[in-house]
Amino acid sequence: MELEDINTVAVLGAGNMGHGIAEVAALAGYDVTMRDIKEEFVQNGYDQIEWSLGKLAEKDQIGEDAADDALDRITPLVDVEQAVGDADIVIEAVPEKMDIKKEVYGEVEEYAPDGAIFATNTSSLSVTELSEVTDRPEQFCGMHFFNPPVRMQLVEVISGAHSSEETLEVVEELAESMDKTPVRVHRDEPGFIVNRILVPLMNEAAWLVHEGESTIAEVDSTTKFGMGLPMGTFELGDQVGNDVSYHVLEYMHEVLGDAYEPCPLLAEKVDEGHLGKKTGKGFYDYEDGPGAEIPTDQQSELVEKRLLASMANEIAKLIDGDVATPDSIDEAVTLGAGFPDGPVKLVDEYGVDELLETLEDAHEETGHDRYAPADYLEDRAGEGGFRESGGDEDAGADFEAIRVEYPGDKVGHVVVDRPHRMNTISNDVLTELSEAVDLLEADDEVRAILLTGEGDRAFSAGADVQSMAAGGGDPLEAVELSKEGQQTFGKLEACDMPVVAGIDGYCLGGGMELATCADIRVASERSELGQPELNLGLIPGWGGTQRLKHIVGEGRAKEIILTAERYDAETMEEYGFVNEVTENDALLERAHELAADLAAGPPIAHRFTKRAMLAGRDDTDAGLELEAAAFGHLMGTEDLMEGLTAFMGDGEPEFEGK
Ligand code: NAD
Repeated sequence: MELEDINTVAVLGAGNMGHGIAEVAALAGYDVTMRDIKEEFVQNGYDQIEWSLGKLAEKDQIGEDAADDALDRITPLVDVEQAVGDADIVIEAVPEKMDIKKEVYGEVEEYAPDGAIFATNTSSLSVTELSEVTDRPEQFCGMHFFNPPVRMQLVEVISGAHSSEETLEVVEELAESMDKTPVRVHRDEPGFIVNRILVPLMNEAAWLVHEGESTIAEVDSTTKFGMGLPMGTFELGDQVGNDVSYHVLEYMHEVLGDAYEPCPLLAEKVDEGHLGKKTGKGFYDYEDGPGAEIPTDQQSELVEKRLLASMANEIAKLIDGDVATPDSIDEAVTLGAGFPDGPVKLVDEYGVDELLETLEDAHEETGHDRYAPADYLEDRAGEGGFRESGGDEDAGADFEAIRVEYPGDKVGHVVVDRPHRMNTISNDVLTELSEAVDLLEADDEVRAILLTGEGDRAFSAGADVQSMAAGGGDPLEAVELSKEGQQTFGKLEACDMPVVAGIDGYCLGGGMELATCADIRVASERSELGQPELNLGLIPGWGGTQRLKHIVGEGRAKEIILTAERYDAETMEEYGFVNEVTENDALLERAHELAADLAAGPPIAHRFTKRAMLAGRDDTDAGLELEAAAFGHLMGTEDLMEGLTAFMGDGEPEFEGK
C-alpha cells in the first residue's frame, strides 16, 4: 500500500479523539466514515466537527467552502460493515479498554478489505497485543494523535513487534498529508515517548509531596515559573486526568518494573474520584476553589533537580532501549507537551553528570527503584551529555561556507564566506548555518547573533543557482530544497537570541529572505535589496512569500515580490524592512554595536518576547497565552531584580540570564 492508495479513512469511535481525527482526515481531503455504537454518539461527534469547522472558518484558518467540503466528506455511521467495508485505513479510537478494543478488531477484521491498514490511537495499551488479535499484524501500528487532534501537531507512529516498515512509512506519510508531524516510536513500550516522559515526571512530583520533600505549590511554582514548562506538573496532571496518569503508570509498573510504582498520593486522588478538571476537583479545586493558582515565588532547587534527574533517567532508557532517538524525543515532547525546549536539551544543559549524582544520592537515601540510574545514563554522564556534540568546544571549527567569529561583547558573528560567489547560498551554507545557530544557542557566552556577508559587494546575492541546478530541474528535489531553506531560515528566525543582519551590498532573493529572518536589519547606503525571483519565472522559495509581509505589510510585500524590482537601502528603510541606514564604511561597526546592545539585554526576556511574538503571528490567543506565562516566569528571575535595581539606581544592569 502506498499513500496514493489511501482514499477512504474509517474512524472508529466518535468521542473526544475520534471526531477530531475524522475532522483532520476530512480536511486533508480523504473520504471519511466515522462509526460509533449508537446513533446519538455519532451524531454528537458529527455536530462537534461541524462546530469546530465553523470555528476554523470564523478565524479564517480555512475558507467557508473548505469547511463545507470537509463536512460533506464525513459519513456518520453505526453499521460496522458500511463503515469499514471500503476503508483503506481504519483508525481506531474506541475506549481505552483492552477487551473492548479486541472485540472491535475481531469485528472489523471480518468486513475490512484485506489490504486495509489498521492503526490504533491507544495511549497506553500494547500495540503488539492488539495487532495479534487480527490476521494482519504486519499491517497494524499505533497512530497516536494528541488532544485535540485539530490543534496538536504531533502524531506518534508506533511500531508494534510485527508492524512492517511499509505500513509505518505509509502511516507517517498519511500523518504528513494531514499536516501533522509524525514521530516514529521504534518499539512498543508503555507511554511511547511523550507519556513516558510526562507520566513518570508526574509520579516523581507526587512522590516528592507524598514523602514530605516538597509541596504541591513548590513543585508547580518550580516547573511553571522556574523551568518554564507550560504548566505546573500537578496542574498538568489535573488537566490530563489523574485516572489516566494512574492507569498509564500501572501499566508501566507491570511491564517496566518497580521504578514506576504509582505514588499512593495519586492512587488516593483516583479513589476519591478527584480526577482533575473533568470532575471539578483534583490536586486543585476547580469547583469551589480558584483552580490552579500557582505562586511564582516558591521555586525549589531540590524539585528541579529531582524532576530533571527523573527525566534524564527516562531519556536514557528510551534511547538505550531503541525506542527513540534524542532528536525524536525532543521533537515529540516539544510538539506534544508544549515544552519550550526538548527534554534532552534541558537535561544536557543542566548537566547530566550532576543529575546522575542526584539520582545516586536519592537512591541511597530512599532505596526506591525509581532512582536507580540507568546504565546508559552513567555512560552519557561520562561523555558530557546525550548529544554527541554536547560541550564540544570545537564543533564550529569545520565550517567552510560560513565563518563563526566571536568579536566580543557576547556577540556571535556568522559570516557567509563565499565572496567570490557573491555570498550566494548553497546547500553547504544552509547546512552550516543551521549548525551555527545550534552552536551559538548552546554557548552561554553568546547572547546575540550578528549576520553579515564577507566583503563589501554582497550580504548575499541570492541562492547559488549552480548548486541548485545540480538537482537537474527535478521538481521533487526542488521542493525538498525549498523546504530545507525554509526550515533553516525558520530556525534562525525562531532562535532565542536577538539576530541583527548587517547588509552591505547586494541583498537579493534568498539573501533577502535570509535577512528577513533577522530581528533587526541595518544596511549601508550602497546596498540594493529585492526579491527578483519572478524575473526568472520563479517565486521566493525560502519563506519569502510568508515572512516578508510580517515586516513590511502585505501590500509592500506583494509589490516587492511581484515587481521583482531592486530597491535602495533608503527606500527599504521607508518600507520598514531596514531599521537603519549607515554610511558605507560605518556598516560593520554599527551592526556590531546594535548586536552588542542587544546582547547586554535580559536573555530570558529576549527569549520569551521572540517566542510570544512568533507564536502569536497567526494565532493571537496562543501568543497572548505565552506572553502571560512568560510574564509570570520572569517575576521569579534574578534578571528582573537586577533590572529593577539598576533602574532605581543609575547603574547599567548586568543580566545573567537567571
Ligand atoms: P471517548 O470515550 O471520548 O470516545 C470513545 C468513543 O468510542 C465513545 O463515543 C464510545 O461510544 C465509542 N465506542 C465504544 N465502543 C465502540 C465500538 N465498538 N465501535 C465504535 N465506537 C465505539 O474516548 P477518547 O478520549 O476519544 O479516547 C479514545 C482513544 O483515544 C483511547 O484509546 C484513548 O486512550 C486514546 N487517546 C485519548 C486521548 C485524550 O486526550 N482523550 C489522547 C490520545 C489518545
